Amino acid sequence: MHEISIAGAIVDAVLDAAKKNNAKKVSEVFIEIGELTALNPEQMKFIFKTISSGTPAEGARYDIRVITPLINCKKCLYNGPIGFFEKLHFFLPQIKCPRCGDIEIDITAGRECCVKRIKIS
Ligand SMILES: [Zn+2]
Repeated sequence: MHEISIAGAIVDAVLDAAKKNNAKKVSEVFIEIGELTALNPEQMKFIFKTISSGTPAEGARYDIRVITPLINCKKCLYNGPIGFFEKLHFFLPQIKCPRCGDIEIDITAGRECCVKRIKIS
């Protein structure tokens, strides 16, 4: 599963930062996940809790912010969110310009998955 390897990399980064700061405990972790990563925040939280058990990050609160995808259209210069369409009860992003329909776009947000900051004690 996609989520496990990414969650593992995030917990490693958190533990590494905690160690460098001589932290005994990580109390809170702030994470940003772009909607285009298709990562499920609830599933991520569950994996974080499972794999951080027995580490200084055990029991930390995970604050996950989902980032709405934004695009820049090269054709009509539209700058903003993309559209979603529903398929089999899933909302899938439409990677095209919602104004002119062109696919020559730059994705400026929505693909990130990173730790913004951590709170240690
Ligand atoms: Zn456009």
